[in-house]
Parts: sequence; structure tokens; C-alpha cells
Amino acid sequence: MRKRRTPETTPDAAADKDFPAFCPICRRPMLEGVAVDRHHWIPRARDGRDWDWMHQVCHRKIHALFSETELARDYPDAERIRAHPEIARFIDWVKRRPPDFNDWHKKPRRRR
Ligand SMILES: [Zn+2]
Ligand SMILES: [Zn+2]
Repeated sequence: MRKRRTPETTPDAAADKDFPAFCPICRRPMLEGVAVDRHHWIPRARDGRDWDWMHQVCHRKIHALFSETELARDYPDAERIRAHPEIARFIDWVKRRPPDFNDWHKKPRRRR
């Protein structure tokens, strides 16, 4: 099983983590600060420290589909999440959307 992350990655380096060019889930480009979220691969409640930026749509999809227990147990990395058939369908759908695509119901007008 290939490990994405090396142990020397600084734990809890939350603030100054490099912003990735591509989303780990859908592999579309990402725009820093625009329609992106952090996802903890293992929930923080379970002592998870490893997180990555990803699109808000991708993030929401993951949490709509999997419980925290399932994520921690079965989907602690992007490869395994991408292997799920429903996620594959989602990626196929979202890949035609622009990088700042946020939600199919409401316009992203909020800033935070
Ligand atoms: Zn994405
Ligand atoms: Zn998350």
C-alpha cells in the first residue's frame, strides 16, 4: 500500500501548509482561498493530524457519502476515496466544472 505522506511531515503545521495545485480527490486545479476546504483524513477526534486542501464540493461529497467512522477506518487517503464508485461518478461529473465551482444550489458569496 503506497503511503502518500512521509512521517517527517510536520504534524499540525496547519497555518503554513503549502497550497497544492491540484485537488487530491478530483485532480482539478485549485485556487487558493476560493471554494476550498481542509479535510482531515482521520477525524481530529481520533487524533488525526494529517489534512489536505481540497475543493469544497469534493469535501462535501466525501462527508455526505461517508461517516467519520468509515473515513477513519476505510478511507484515510485520497486513493481509497477515489476508488469508491460513487466518488468516481462524482469526479466524472465535477471535472467539467470550473475550479471555483462551489455549489449547485447557492452562489458562493460568503467570505471567511
Ligand atoms: Zn476537487
Ligand atoms: Zn473533512
